[in-house]
Amino acid sequence: MQLIEIYKSLQGESSYAGLPCVFVRTAGCNLRCVWCDSEYTFKGGHRMALDEVMREVQFLSPNGGLVEITGGEPLLQESEVVALMERLLAAGYTVLIETSGERPLDKVPPQVVKIVDVKCPHSGEGGTFRAENLQHLTPRDEIKFVLASRKDYEFARDFIRDHDLSNRVASVILSPAFRKDASGSRDVSHCLLDPRELAEWMLADGLNVRLGLQIHKFIWEPSLKGV
Ligand code: SF4
Repeated sequence: MQLIEIYKSLQGESSYAGLPCVFVRTAGCNLRCVWCDSEYTFKGGHRMALDEVMREVQFLSPNGGLVEITGGEPLLQESEVVALMERLLAAGYTVLIETSGERPLDKVPPQVVKIVDVKCPHSGEGGTFRAENLQHLTPRDEIKFVLASRKDYEFARDFIRDHDLSNRVASVILSPAFRKDASGSRDVSHCLLDPRELAEWMLADGLNVRLGLQIHKFIWEPSLKGV
């Protein structure tokens, strides 16, 4: 498979945030979100065989734990990524996959936690979520909306209600987008939407969802890669 990097850090998002995690980052993405902080994944990378990837993961985390497959868009390499997920599960890892939900999710093994980042209007990629994927969500999965505006929030709120997401998946997360050129201070001034404002909207609408902050952006220099 074509990969950008494999590294160990702390999980920065989702309800697993704060836990140690090995990240397997694939190359290539078919979307172009305006606030994307992973543009370095769009081209290049290097080929690695499944056995090599497994050896690297086992070196970084020999006693099991969390492994997240992310990108780019990992499901552009569906057959290789599914084979990797099956190997990781068999070796006792808890496996997460981060995907936009634009690619079909039907081949993802049910034991894998799918973290589906449904794109909102201001990402520039709104409407790319594949509706058929709703039937492949399981109670262990998580749905994330990255928000840059009130319009994004209203899109997410209506999507959550229309599809009864809070009762279908383990966690629904609303997360302010971070400026892709953020550097220097590690604080909320880099968020494109003020988390306080988002919290007030969530409470006013009575949504049973989680506010998520990308904690790695607050722990490390926001422009740092590989964390
Ligand atoms: S789907 Fe992810 S990697 Fe692809 S452009 Fe959007 S934020 Fe970047």
